[in-house]
Amino acid sequence: MHLQSFPGAGNQHENRTHVKAHHIANEDDGKVRASGRSDRLPEKGSSLDQSISILGEILLQIDAANGREEILQVLRNETHWLLAHDICFISIVNSSRTHYTIHALSPGAETIGLHRMQFVISEGMPGWAIQHQAAILGEVSSGPTYVDAIEGALVAHGMQSVLIVPLRTAETTIGSFTLCSERSSAYREQEMCIAQLLAYQVAIALKNTTSFDDARKQITQIELVNQIAQELTSILDLDELLHSAAQSIQKSFNYFDVSIFLVNTQENEATLVARAGNFVDFLPHGYRQSLSEGFVGWVASYGQRVLANDVSEDPRYRISAYRNTKSELALPIFVNGEVAGVLNIEDEIVNAFDDTDAIVLETLCGFLGSIIKNARLHDQVKKANMRLTELDRLKTDFISIVSHDFRSPLASIILAAKGLMRQGQPVNQERLAEYLNVIIDKATRLSHLAEDTLSMTKMEAGQLSYFFKRVNLKSLIHEASSLVEFSRRHSLEYTVDPGADYVKGDDAKLRQVLQNLLSNAVKYSPRGGMIRVRAENYSTDQIIVLVSDEGIGIPTEQMDRLFEKFCRINTIETRSIKGSGLGLWICREIVRSHGGQIWVESQLGKGSTFRFTLRKA
Ligand code: ADP
Repeated sequence: MHLQSFPGAGNQHENRTHVKAHHIANEDDGKVRASGRSDRLPEKGSSLDQSISILGEILLQIDAANGREEILQVLRNETHWLLAHDICFISIVNSSRTHYTIHALSPGAETIGLHRMQFVISEGMPGWAIQHQAAILGEVSSGPTYVDAIEGALVAHGMQSVLIVPLRTAETTIGSFTLCSERSSAYREQEMCIAQLLAYQVAIALKNTTSFDDARKQITQIELVNQIAQELTSILDLDELLHSAAQSIQKSFNYFDVSIFLVNTQENEATLVARAGNFVDFLPHGYRQSLSEGFVGWVASYGQRVLANDVSEDPRYRISAYRNTKSELALPIFVNGEVAGVLNIEDEIVNAFDDTDAIVLETLCGFLGSIIKNARLHDQVKKANMRLTELDRLKTDFISIVSHDFRSPLASIILAAKGLMRQGQPVNQERLAEYLNVIIDKATRLSHLAEDTLSMTKMEAGQLSYFFKRVNLKSLIHEASSLVEFSRRHSLEYTVDPGADYVKGDDAKLRQVLQNLLSNAVKYSPRGGMIRVRAENYSTDQIIVLVSDEGIGIPTEQMDRLFEKFCRINTIETRSIKGSGLGLWICREIVRSHGGQIWVESQLGKGSTFRFTLRKA
């Protein structure tokens, strides 16, 4: 094995030191042995003149090549004219000089699976040549390093001799160039010199194209950003928008896997909302993760991007059992200055991303932020519209219910009054009481209905006025219950805890709250039962009032909208019970105006408990 170092190759190799690790085993008789690939292949021992002229032609082509791919293509097409080989590849170092990637220059190198493989710079003979800025000449099996994936694979495929030269420029070594042969001792000093000459030119050409390639990549990516932007601007539905964004980014930039998370800072979590790519068992749609975990959590918390080209070295990385991530790039998506989402790109190879990716995707994230904002606004307007349409429908229903509710008690009142007025019939005490009871009962119902309707109109117009004073809860409960009609099947029990007897409020409005809750408790307990009112101390300055019944209860899924205007629960049991859907909405408005809150707990078939808080007086 012959290892040759070059000027400026570091201290231990300075002054053109020739290190003979092994004897150059080339005791050939100089006779020509065909490589067996093609009769046009260079023959071992071909004249230097010939080689120099072929080299000149190749160098002209390299000079004319545009970009790295074209240079590699020239080498793929032409190297076999110059230097005999069964396997040929080039290894190129990444910008952080931690790894190198192999690019096959011959079909043989592809066949053994080295194409696009990445290795740590300290691994394998190509890495050794790069690190030591030295050439290697000799037998594969006795090289300065041996890793299964490179030297092992070469030996397994029958390679005997190897020639590796570093790709050096004036400042640095950007890679190495490898030739292998099935023949033992296939390469000599002459081949090494020619390979070195080629390598110098290739190194310079590759170095020059790096900046050209970077600029070209940036331009292409910016064009892609524009293209994606144009595709997305027409989509207004948020889910569809994010889904299309993930798809377009993955396809256009050819990333391995792309996911988008939306951030909820209040819940301290991020939710996976869109994804496109190659991981088979990725997290399910809607998956939630805490903001204290992983790159996504970190980006959401700190509003800065993460570019990890080897995730195993970053403590922020959350190891996943089922996806083999090696590189990850996560970027914040801002809406109104807050992190609203995270764009997350992952790859199965190390060093998959560079600064250009990060910069271009940052631009894209800025754009995503503004379209997410638009989609959200559109969503709000759509919801508000739907709500208005629903409200309009409910109002129409309400008018027909109310006009019916007004008419039927009025008809009973008129009928009872006419009965009393009927001439020729004596009005005894008993009949008088019965008729008057009907009149009072129906008139009271009318008055409640009128009161609710009036309250709603005033509340909507912001014209309801409050007169706050010190209100005694016990008297209030007493008054409210006397206005509610209890049947013989219902009984009422109320208690006021010591210290919970005075609140700050408008007594007429608070009476209306209690009255509504009590009449609901009666109305929605058609089989009767105990109705309890209790006032307790809630906190140092708050009192809580509970109104509970043993009635039909409320389905859990309908509880959220219970306090909305015109809301009526639609079940078989409620269908026959009359109501306007205004009572609880009025209660909520009044309680809120008193600085309190109202909510309900209920069990179907067992009963409901309404609770509201008030301020102590
Ligand atoms: P309504 O005039 O329809 O009673 P409310 O606003 O007072 O209007 O109540 C809204 C809906 O809430 C009612 O239609 C009823 O379905 C449900 N509800 C209210 N109170 C109770 C209760 N105590 N038990 C069961 N359901 C109730």
